[in-house]
Amino acid sequence: MKCEELVRYLSDYIDNNLNEELRADAQEHLATCRNCHVLLDTTRLTTALYRSRGDQVLPPTRRSDLYEKIKRAVARQDAAGLEDPEV
Ligand SMILES: [Zn+2]
Repeated sequence: MKCEELVRYLSDYIDNNLNEELRADAQEHLATCRNCHVLLDTTRLTTALYRSRGDQVLPPTRRSDLYEKIKRAVARQDAAGLEDPEV
């Protein structure tokens, strides 16, 4: 699984809506990709925050905003990683 795919499946992963195969793929990726692990934590926290206020889910606009930010962050970090493998 690539980072882009992980981002696409992330909310379903958090909500336990993935089938076993996708879930295993996601877990495998999360175990090896620090960026996506951070992403998962951040998204979980944000989701928990909304739920604690009584909302069932993130408002759709808010959710897509978040994923846009996440995708850009992942893309930036991938590019940075190519330039400097130590980071
Ligand atoms: Zn990743």
